[in-house]
Amino acid sequence: MKLTSSEPFFLVKNGIANSYPSIRENLDTEILIVGGGITGSLIAHQCMEEGYKTVLIDRREIGHGSTSATTSILQYEIDVPLHQLIDLIGEKAAVDSYWACYKSIDDLKKIVRQVKYDCGFKKKESLYFAAVKKDVGWLKKEFEARKKIGMPVKWLEADEIYKKFHNKHSYGGIFSEQGGSIGAFQLAHDILAYNHEKGLKIFDKTDIKKVTYKQNGVSVQTENGTTITAKKIIYCNGFESTEIIKDKFINYFLLMQ
Ligand SMILES: Cc1cc2nc3c(=O)[nH]c(=O)nc-3n(C[C@H](O)[C@H](O)[C@H](O)COP(=O)(O)OP(=O)(O)OC[C@H]3O[C@@H](n4cnc5c(N)ncnc54)[C@H](O)[C@@H]3O)c2cc1C
Repeated sequence: MKLTSSEPFFLVKNGIANSYPSIRENLDTEILIVGGGITGSLIAHQCMEEGYKTVLIDRREIGHGSTSATTSILQYEIDVPLHQLIDLIGEKAAVDSYWACYKSIDDLKKIVRQVKYDCGFKKKESLYFAAVKKDVGWLKKEFEARKKIGMPVKWLEADEIYKKFHNKHSYGGIFSEQGGSIGAFQLAHDILAYNHEKGLKIFDKTDIKKVTYKQNGVSVQTENGTTITAKKIIYCNGFESTEIIKDKFINYFLLMQ
């Protein structure tokens, strides 16, 4: 008996919400966005809000990258804890990053309302707990770092966590009211449909063959034999960025941990 599926959950749940044509003509634009997942959709939305002539392409259907596989958790924490990020990039940059992420959950709520997507976004409380005793020390250090910059966080002891969340397997943790959940796949589709009506050009099933960087922009040859010229190109192609950006900017060892 087969009990699991290899299909991404949201593809099964939502199907293909909208499909767009592949590119058939040469285009000239201010901004070209490569990738129509949740990142490309949000960037396209911002570009359109700021009045830029924008084109978005995706080699597959919209949202068929990792956006179709998320477990929908919205959290303000970056993978690196604040106290460690301060050591890595300095206090100002680390604190600004944490506040930007903290604020982004409320920004997302505004976008959700704007594009009239209302089936999925929920603000939720969040708990970052120590599942093993040895993690309590650094988690408390992290709590202090967040408290020091004024974040409304609270330390909960194991018994308080049990009372509130019925979680028997914690040794204490950081509680916050800032968190949420969202269906990123559907949101990406809805953001793009909203902006498509406002003039955003979208082409799926459109892959890149070659990118030529010029002094005043880029020229992109697509697999379909057309050319897109743009003043700026923004790569939002997720895990596949390494195919195009040759600099070694991903530490695979860290990703596997
Ligand atoms: C199992 C799983 C669970 C996850 N759970 C969570 C979670 O709970 N919360 C959370 O915040 N994150 C979660 N993530 C991470 C999250 O899904 C990703 O960070 C997010 O979806 C990335 O979105 P993206 O738009 O950057 O990339 P993608 O969704 O991968 O989109 C990239 C797009 O670029 C396109 N593309 C690639 N190369 C080209 C090219 N050359 N030309 C044209 N198009 C191209 C692809 O077809 C794709 O559509 C999870 C990830 C996985 C795999």
